[in-house]
Amino acid sequence: MRLVTYQLLNTTALRTGIQISRDEVLDIVNEALEIGSSYRVSTMLDIIAGGEVTMNLLREIEAHPKTAPVMLNKALLKAPIPRPTKNIFCVGWNYLDHFNEGGEVAKDNRELPAYPVFFTKAPTAVNGPYDVIPFDENISTQLDWEVELGVIVGEGGKNISEADAMRHVFGYTIINDVTWRDLQRRHGGQWHKGKSLDGTCPMGPCIVTADAIDPTNLDLECRVSGVVKQQSNTKHLYFKIPRLIHDLSEGMTLEAGDIISTGTPEGVGFARKPPEWMQPGDLLETTIEGIGIMRNVIGFY
Ligand code: MG
Repeated sequence: MRLVTYQLLNTTALRTGIQISRDEVLDIVNEALEIGSSYRVSTMLDIIAGGEVTMNLLREIEAHPKTAPVMLNKALLKAPIPRPTKNIFCVGWNYLDHFNEGGEVAKDNRELPAYPVFFTKAPTAVNGPYDVIPFDENISTQLDWEVELGVIVGEGGKNISEADAMRHVFGYTIINDVTWRDLQRRHGGQWHKGKSLDGTCPMGPCIVTADAIDPTNLDLECRVSGVVKQQSNTKHLYFKIPRLIHDLSEGMTLEAGDIISTGTPEGVGFARKPPEWMQPGDLLETTIEGIGIMRNVIGFY
């Protein structure tokens, strides 16, 4: 099932939907009203927290819709979780070729990590799949791209075993871990600031539920103004999803709606010779097989 958060044109309210075709979305709240359901389904976080009971309602809606679908030419898809309740968990160096290209730039003969590198992006960084990514040359001019598979946590937990981890996954989305590269390095080597500016976490265009996709073999690609910059497959993830969930949840509670961005493959701007950065007017396209495509223009504030 493909779940979306959308906005009807010329309105401000965010609505939840089931995308049933390229152009059509079933409005979940309207459908639930028709059925007489009292479940909370007005935000994606409600739906995820509702667990299997809510998913059964959505399956019923998808199988026997009672309202006319909303046409997507009259709506705009937004980030499926527009305002996460906490920071987005991110993984650094999780594709070997990206690890190596980073090592080449740093010239530090780094050893392969024994544990994943974790950092976070602020919730305010979240951006829609077709929204403008703000550019402020007074802050930085080194704007870089990072296509990543996003994992959405369903049932929360702590000290989750690798064997049990996939049971805690609600679904998958696309994230571009857009990074202001000099800010990332400027602050004592802590990545949080350079990866948390407003609008630097485009997410979407939907969440594909875990029962509908195999995350272990998905092509992913990032293009800037039509030129392919990154092209890989999630089978090359160094630390696989169960290991990420296990390590992250050790002594730290994961909750429904938490987001884990699993790391980016090779081909980022800073490792190119010479380095490349996005400019205002560039079109950033981020795509993962089976999930969809995001198109974000780089623009001035
Ligand atoms: Mg990243």
